[in-house]
Amino acid sequence: MTEAPDSVICSAKGCTAVGVYAVVWNNPKIHDPDREKTWIACEEHRQYLSHFLDRRGFLRRVDRLGQGE
Ligand SMILES: [Zn+2]
Repeated sequence: MTEAPDSVICSAKGCTAVGVYAVVWNNPKIHDPDREKTWIACEEHRQYLSHFLDRRGFLRRVDRLGQGE
């Protein structure tokens, strides 16, 4: 389970859309293996952000944020 961060605004530069995905990543050069960083992504930027991290080998997974109330 990924806990929803306080901010649910998309992490993409300049984007102010509400995020609906948690892009979970870890940079092994600077983070402990059990440390997980989270970027928030809107529908539009999910691909962009996950590809950005995946190219660098940082991407772990993409979780859908729980908003279905
Ligand atoms: Zn966005």
